[in-house]
Amino acid sequence: MGVVGSASVRAVRRFTVRAHLPEQLAALGTLATNLRWTWHPPTQDLFAAVDPEVWERVGGDPLRLLAEVPAERMAGLARNENFLARTRALADDLRRYLTGARWYQRRQEEEPGLPAAVAYFSMEFGVTEALPNYSGGLGVLAGDHLKAASDLGVPLVGVGLLYRSGYFRQSLSLDGWQVEHYPVLDPRGLPLEPLTEPTGAPIQVHVAMPGGRVLRARIWKAQVGRVPLLLLDSDLPDNDPDLRGVTDRLYGGDQDHRIRQEILAGIGGVRAVRTYCELTGHPQPEVFHTNEGHAGFLGLERIRELVTGEGLDFEQAQVAVRAGTVFTTHTPVPAGIDRFPVDLVRHYFGSGVSDGLLPGVPADRVLALGAEDNPGMFNMAHMGLRLAQRANGVSALHGRVSREMFHKLWPGFDVDEVPIGAVTNGVHGPTWAAREISKLLGESEVDSGVGLRGFEPVTDSLLWELRCALRTRLVEEVRRRVRQAWLQRGAAALELGWTDSVFDPEVLTVGFARRVPTYKRLTLMLRNSNRLRQLLLDPERPVQLVVAGKSHPADEGGKALIQQIVRFADDPAVRHRIVFLTDYDMQLARYLYWGCDVWLNNPLRPLEACGTSGMKAALNGGLNLSVRDGWWDEFYDGSNGWAIPTADGVGDPNRRDDLEAAALYDLLGSQVAPLFYDRGEDGVPNRWMSMVRHTLASLGPRVQASRMVQEYVESYYLPAARSAAAVRDEGFRGAKDLAEYRARVQSAWNRVRVLDCDMSVNGAQAPVLGAPVTVRARVELAGLDPAEVDVQAVVGRVDDADELRNVVTVSMVHTDAGEYVAEVRLPHTGAAGFTVRVLPRHALLGTPAELGRVVLAR
Ligand SMILES: *Cc1c(COP(=O)(O)O)cnc(C)c1O
Repeated sequence: MGVVGSASVRAVRRFTVRAHLPEQLAALGTLATNLRWTWHPPTQDLFAAVDPEVWERVGGDPLRLLAEVPAERMAGLARNENFLARTRALADDLRRYLTGARWYQRRQEEEPGLPAAVAYFSMEFGVTEALPNYSGGLGVLAGDHLKAASDLGVPLVGVGLLYRSGYFRQSLSLDGWQVEHYPVLDPRGLPLEPLTEPTGAPIQVHVAMPGGRVLRARIWKAQVGRVPLLLLDSDLPDNDPDLRGVTDRLYGGDQDHRIRQEILAGIGGVRAVRTYCELTGHPQPEVFHTNEGHAGFLGLERIRELVTGEGLDFEQAQVAVRAGTVFTTHTPVPAGIDRFPVDLVRHYFGSGVSDGLLPGVPADRVLALGAEDNPGMFNMAHMGLRLAQRANGVSALHGRVSREMFHKLWPGFDVDEVPIGAVTNGVHGPTWAAREISKLLGESEVDSGVGLRGFEPVTDSLLWELRCALRTRLVEEVRRRVRQAWLQRGAAALELGWTDSVFDPEVLTVGFARRVPTYKRLTLMLRNSNRLRQLLLDPERPVQLVVAGKSHPADEGGKALIQQIVRFADDPAVRHRIVFLTDYDMQLARYLYWGCDVWLNNPLRPLEACGTSGMKAALNGGLNLSVRDGWWDEFYDGSNGWAIPTADGVGDPNRRDDLEAAALYDLLGSQVAPLFYDRGEDGVPNRWMSMVRHTLASLGPRVQASRMVQEYVESYYLPAARSAAAVRDEGFRGAKDLAEYRARVQSAWNRVRVLDCDMSVNGAQAPVLGAPVTVRARVELAGLDPAEVDVQAVVGRVDDADELRNVVTVSMVHTDAGEYVAEVRLPHTGAAGFTVRVLPRHALLGTPAELGRVVLAR
């Protein structure tokens, strides 16, 4: 047998051999496959104790650890009473965590209407770097949503796709250009179990493709604490080669590839949840949460279920599906909205009613759901809104921006009345807080999922020491990574001595890491590069800057921005104070959020829907220095960080960047750095620490994903479950009623008119503030019953264009004489006006604006 050099032979396939654990250590397998270990330090410590060296080498991934630890070591541990006892205790702890009553179960005692299960659909899930199935913020948010739901006991089932190569790994060429790698992942080496029949046969879901073909997928399950996450995978030998590649990459490929992925996630996803629930006895979801438009086809599959299974017609089924659907929109950037050519949608949703992708769901009905201004395009966000009775943006500001952005879907209504609410995103505390911080703030609170609520009396110097330790850890990681990156870029080890002194553990450390779309303005800091150089090299009060981020592989502009940063940072004069770190992922992110003193964010307001990295920094006592966009617009209070003033009104983008960059340098140089370097006798920056303290105490609890998930439960899942029950009961009577009502409104509406209306002042001659006035109107109802409409008096200020502002609306009473009457108290002084409007009214409508129908007096 010849000996071959290891580098000269490439494997044709990768596969993973799972460890065979001694029986006494079987619980280690359970602890490794339930991803709760990712946010449970005692379990991580147990794995580290198995073999500290291997644990380090495999980057803290328990499955890889168990596969690589030598069998003798395992055999030794199987005889080690101490280790066995520790393992048993943690396995018991996990069992209690999985089975005990938590917040949701207590809440159910008061509120039996809470849904028995909620399905949460997302195209990406960032649970842990050991399951790299995400590209950035959206995926990490989805992962945090699952973890917080698990901590709270919310019965969620996650649904998405498993990508063969996840998102790309990033490195740099010698001249600073982004290079992408797509390592192939073997699901058997990941914390996943295939879903199988009781016989052991793997379960498949099937989705019809044009031309009589079938797209098959198997279902993998990751267990995220109490929450199962189902991931569909098309890489099966039974599939045609092109269909086999449907789940090859996240955000790779053309629109055809993309729509196939979304069809599989939405339609295949519902089928996967159904199968999972039948198989395991898990309750079927009553509520479906569509996390961004990508997953929106799920509503069509549920319409098909009701049409073919319950004998409903399309309208009735649509009403029933809407009632139990929640849609969350995540982007105020029009280019960020998912759209497909209408012809492509028609290609997949076919013309046939009885066969094809969704029997009973005609293609023209599908197309109407995604209609937008451009008749050639199908808009996934519009479909999301039309298939969900409840919708939200992800911060208060983003809620407002979304109401404006989608206003046209509710013509005739005030922007404020557009039925899109807001739930501000949050981050999973136990995942993102450094364990030292959790300990300081009380581990039990973090672990209970209630969040970092309080914060025990800790001296400034203790807290400062901790902040310094976290910064030092980051500096070490920066040095390691800079060296590695240069070796990869082709430098020789001998030239890299300087990397040992990159960064300084004593210097004010500013972080900036995010994906690289234009609106995030990666290079704003380079606007005046001399000024930046001065700040970095200030002899008294230097700043060091760590930058990271991936550009979408097809975005050459984004890659050029990265190159600009890299070229600046390559300069020997500044390279000890500014670094670009490659391959921003959850692992690198943790070091950054833990160790940075300041977290910088300078998006083009209001294009950042929420932003969550600054929240993770805040959890660790990092101070935010940010444009007031997304969450920071809502949470900045004047003493928990800094707001970079924005030049919102300035139309010229160049000038706007100049102004905002100047403001950024100014804040850094004249406020942030002086405060950081202003030390007391004990060397502690006391005024800085009081801001850190305030950040931990005031932002700590509010930025938590547990707060976010509780809001979803109370304001979205619970009302959606109630609506879903109301339309479903008694053989879908509610759905049939509401569909019939919608049809009548549809045909009568353009004949409904306010025939006349007037206002009279009660008593006094001239109207005065707070005085009652009487509004009367006569209305032509075109055959609708008076109980089926809401006729409202609308009173408010008028502006110069006679537009009503700051209105109050009062429902008018239908009198025996056939008139509508209301008494209104005048709410403002000055120029006022009134009008009368007619709205649909039905007990099963979520809001009066829901049908987008209103008739105004003329
Ligand atoms: C939190 C996080 C993000 C999102 O951060 P934003 O502030 O929303 O840009 C992106 N990537 C990783 C790895 C994260 O952990």
